[in-house]
Amino acid sequence: MKTSAHVYLIGAGPGDPGLLTLRGKECIEKADVVIYDYLANRTFLSYAAPSAECIFVGKKGFSEHVTQDEINALIIEKAKEPGVKTLARLKGGDPFVFGRGGEEALALAAEDISFEVVPGVTAGVAAPAYAGIPVTHRNVASSVAFVTGHEDPTKNESAIDWTHLAHGVDTICFYMGIKALPHICAQLTEAGRGADTPVALVRWGTTPSQEVLVSNLGKVVAEVERTNFQAPAIIVVGNVVGLREEIKWFERNRPLLGKKVAVTRSRTQASALTELLAVKGADVFEFPTIEIAPPASYAELDAALSGLDTYNWVVFTSVNGVESAFARLAEVGKDARAFGSARVAAIGPATADELRTYGIVADIVPSEYKAEGVIDALFEAGVSSGDRVLIPRAAKAREVLPETLREKGIEVNVVNAYETILAKNTPVDELIESLKAGEIDVITFTSSSTVDNFVAVLKEARGTEDIASLLEGVTLASIGPITSKTAAGHELAIAFEAEEYTIKGLVDAIEKHA
Ligand code: SAH
Repeated sequence: MKTSAHVYLIGAGPGDPGLLTLRGKECIEKADVVIYDYLANRTFLSYAAPSAECIFVGKKGFSEHVTQDEINALIIEKAKEPGVKTLARLKGGDPFVFGRGGEEALALAAEDISFEVVPGVTAGVAAPAYAGIPVTHRNVASSVAFVTGHEDPTKNESAIDWTHLAHGVDTICFYMGIKALPHICAQLTEAGRGADTPVALVRWGTTPSQEVLVSNLGKVVAEVERTNFQAPAIIVVGNVVGLREEIKWFERNRPLLGKKVAVTRSRTQASALTELLAVKGADVFEFPTIEIAPPASYAELDAALSGLDTYNWVVFTSVNGVESAFARLAEVGKDARAFGSARVAAIGPATADELRTYGIVADIVPSEYKAEGVIDALFEAGVSSGDRVLIPRAAKAREVLPETLREKGIEVNVVNAYETILAKNTPVDELIESLKAGEIDVITFTSSSTVDNFVAVLKEARGTEDIASLLEGVTLASIGPITSKTAAGHELAIAFEAEEYTIKGLVDAIEKHA
């Protein structure tokens, strides 16, 4: 009887999460154990079942933190563990291209453990492609070689036939070659490849951190020293490099390429901002500071919802308020018709969009997306003394809206629809590490509670003193004046705020200041 798991050796691609194959994703989804290297994108782990055990081997990038023998032993041990039916072994790029996947396959075969290989998009093709360099091209290059730049140092003789490599192939892609670049250039020129042969280095290809250096065999070593160009990178040698100027598509229309931007919204709400930033090329760091939770009691909200048609207006001040109200309506088998004759106001376009998904077109969306804007718009729409207004919103929201309305003789009922609480399991250590390393360029704040909780999370981890020094050199961006004011209260210096108080407005402002 078969007792060990079935193992998939999966190529995870070069970094862009979209470059994992469908087959690769499928295998991760059914795995009980996932063993992964340093992956360019952690989204792959989110494909795994919540119950799957995810094991990280190998510290940063491509270091020898865990030896290959230890990895082989771990894969075998896990594959033999009772209850483990499927094991996914994820490796950067393609598992059989300088990935030591061959060694893992041999180790599995020796143990009679069944396995399959899922090829991946290899960096030697993908990184040049994202830099606008086709590795082969009609009339320019009819052959390409993948070569390791990291030869076994214990060997006396080179495993690479430099003479034939220099003369026999048009395009040469070196992996792991940054350290050995002087050696590579010397060998190729000595073997007769001209010093003016174009060379491109592509670092972190296909990712938002992609950097490209173009030079030639004679000059590239000095250029790398001058610019302190670091690994990991693919070195492309050959005339195809010349096509880059015309083809480089990835860098076009990505004004935020190379910028790391932290998003502090709740996990469930981050995606709209994250996507907009990613489209512009930013490397997004999700650091959720808030979580949306049910209110202590739904009694107030439920009572208000059962008498919706007794209100003249229902004012929604957030997407969360809309979600919560409609979830409670659904709970008692009701829908948008419960609003009856009540008119509906939304604080901004996102809230209005959310209402539309439930079949309600907001009667008003003010031109200024904050409480004051709603007040003006309500009066313009004819709200007057004696009218009844319902506001389902967060427990701790600003008081301006109800108070101003009450002053004008309007009967206002504010009910707790949800609460914003401090997020759990926020990657605060990772944030602090990135801040210290000077990697974070911008931190975005999309509400007062994201500011309050950001400060609270950092204080809890670091104490008061450190915060200012941690944030030195980091640009703090705010969605609007209320959020900026809250930040000022914490002595956080907001660099700029959105002109239009929306997520899109915030992204536009970041782009403008980038
Ligand atoms: N199996 C992997 C290669 C592993 S060897 C593959 O098929 O792509 C590690 C080397 O791959 C690095 O030193 C670097 O040269 C290259 N590499 C991997 N990912 C890269 C990326 N996103 N950009 C540039 N080079 C990369």
